[in-house]
Amino acid sequence: MNRASLFTVAFLALAAVAPASAQPFSADLSAIRQAAKSMSGALPLRVNVVKFAESRRTKNFAIKGAPREPSIQARTAYQVVYPDGTIMIDSGMDLQVHKFFGRGVEEPYFPAEEAKVERALASAKAIVVTHEHGDHIAGVIRSPDFARLASKATITRTQLQTLMTMPQMPEIKLTAEQGQRFNVIDYETNKAFAPGMALIKSSGHTPGSQMVYLVLQSGKEYLFAGDVAWHMDGVRQVTGKDAPWITEDEPNMAAELTWLNGLMRNEPNVAIVISHDEDQRLQYIRDSVLGDGFE
Ligand SMILES: [Zn+2]
Repeated sequence: MNRASLFTVAFLALAAVAPASAQPFSADLSAIRQAAKSMSGALPLRVNVVKFAESRRTKNFAIKGAPREPSIQARTAYQVVYPDGTIMIDSGMDLQVHKFFGRGVEEPYFPAEEAKVERALASAKAIVVTHEHGDHIAGVIRSPDFARLASKATITRTQLQTLMTMPQMPEIKLTAEQGQRFNVIDYETNKAFAPGMALIKSSGHTPGSQMVYLVLQSGKEYLFAGDVAWHMDGVRQVTGKDAPWITEDEPNMAAELTWLNGLMRNEPNVAIVISHDEDQRLQYIRDSVLGDGFE
């Protein structure tokens, strides 16, 4: 093969793996705030968190270059409480999917907490997920009540595509028929989802990743960052993960971490919520930013 055709092959290969990089992530907080305020109806009152499992991984996996000291990754779901009902952000997972993540190592799983997530999903008005990984969406896909939960769950077209064609694990693969049971949305940049709530397109950790902005009646604001970082130190240091078992879109991840770091420094009213950061979860519960347990 000559040089020119080698170059062509390399270029085509790059284009095939990184189509999202054509437009790296960017987000405008004032536009996001406007979208969240654009839907009429009462704003939410508070947000609750449940930790249903843990992963024990040394800190260097979550933040490249961090010391190999023990750390707890919480697996969490969130309940947004409105005066007339609730919306769930992420959906927990059953024991079998939890075991997939352990890769043969026994890790903590809390059935009573997972049962709280299941009850909260059953009573919620709507369900949305930060991304299409098992620890965030298996609670819907593998529920005995799948059809009913899917009918009030909203996923993006990209999340659906990943789940149908290249799911993180076989247990969460969707058939076309199952996929049709979800509410499927498409949007660029951001989208109003409920009063006080907007979705922010942020592919990178997965193709269908999104962040969720929320403002309460009190004026307090939240930014659910999903798995853009696995620990807030990743945002503080603008440093990505070092986890060989995942493949991320690096330019988008860098842009997302930079944006979150700017939020952290310039918008003290916005609580950035990192799904797996156990230190932050405990701090937010102490500070009453998040309620401990579902209602
Ligand atoms: Zn996760």
